[in-house]
Amino acid sequence: MGREPIITVIGSINMDLVVSVDRKPNRGETVKGESFDTLPGGKGANQAIALARLGATVNMVGMVGDDAFGYELKSNLEKENVQVEAVGVTEGISTGVAVITIAENDNSIAVVSGANEKVTPAYIREYEKIIKQSDIVLTQFEVPISTVEEAAMICEKHGIPIVLNPAPFEKLSDSLLDKVTYLTPNQHEYELIKGYKRYFENDYQSKLIITKGEVGAVFFENEKPQIVSAFTVQPIDTTGAGDTFNSAFTYMMTKTNNIEEACRFSNAAAALSVLKKGAQLGMPTKEEVNSFLS
Ligand code: ADP
Repeated sequence: MGREPIITVIGSINMDLVVSVDRKPNRGETVKGESFDTLPGGKGANQAIALARLGATVNMVGMVGDDAFGYELKSNLEKENVQVEAVGVTEGISTGVAVITIAENDNSIAVVSGANEKVTPAYIREYEKIIKQSDIVLTQFEVPISTVEEAAMICEKHGIPIVLNPAPFEKLSDSLLDKVTYLTPNQHEYELIKGYKRYFENDYQSKLIITKGEVGAVFFENEKPQIVSAFTVQPIDTTGAGDTFNSAFTYMMTKTNNIEEACRFSNAAAALSVLKKGAQLGMPTKEEVNSFLS
């Protein structure tokens, strides 16, 4: 495709509340924290921003609450050139948040889905026109699984390819697996899917791209796993590596049918993303990826 693609992301929008402490408080105890940051996150929003940086025209379909975080996150998306016509605001519910406590070797995360739960099948049906006009759709599991199933159905109806990043892990039905064009678990999610689904690998090989952290990514060709090696870098913060990989992969599948080439580009984008702190800060532009690769 010569022109830049139009891509719809259906997914979560969160504010990450990050507290750094020397050690976690014990029961009933108060400890002094070292720092506190609010960082825009949510897999959907992260992936939308990564796609916009790569040059795609991106429509985000999502929901925030009628609170300060909601407005801040929506304007953050706009600032990053993501179209927010389909980002709704629901009154009386909080914006999604992830409360992240970072202690030495002992991080913990509590996620409140909040308004992300309002990204329902009925809500995305309102935006069928946007989905229909897309070159490809990207989604994940931080919105209800019934919504992901609806998205896959709408895409099938209009012949639009759909990439599902099955994170965080949820059990997938065969009918969903049949409808998705590409499934992109990380190693951990892949093991969990294989754990409950017999013959998963045999039946869905051609759709599978497994990300394996610093090893790279694996896809199958003629029933043989092919490793596309990651680039060697000194990571500062790997948060958002998977999101960057997924966006780069989705973007590239509008440009080529060559999965290996798409994985190489995506490994490069993800390698660049781990060189900066936070999920969104390190996500590279297309020019940055190309100059890294040249
Ligand atoms: P997730 O972040 O979803 O757990 P992975 O850990 O599999 O996903 O990472 C996604 C991609 O990010 C990998 O396929 C690879 O391209 C890149 N990546 C992750 N960690 C590193 C690393 N330490 N060095 C280089 N690339 C990395």
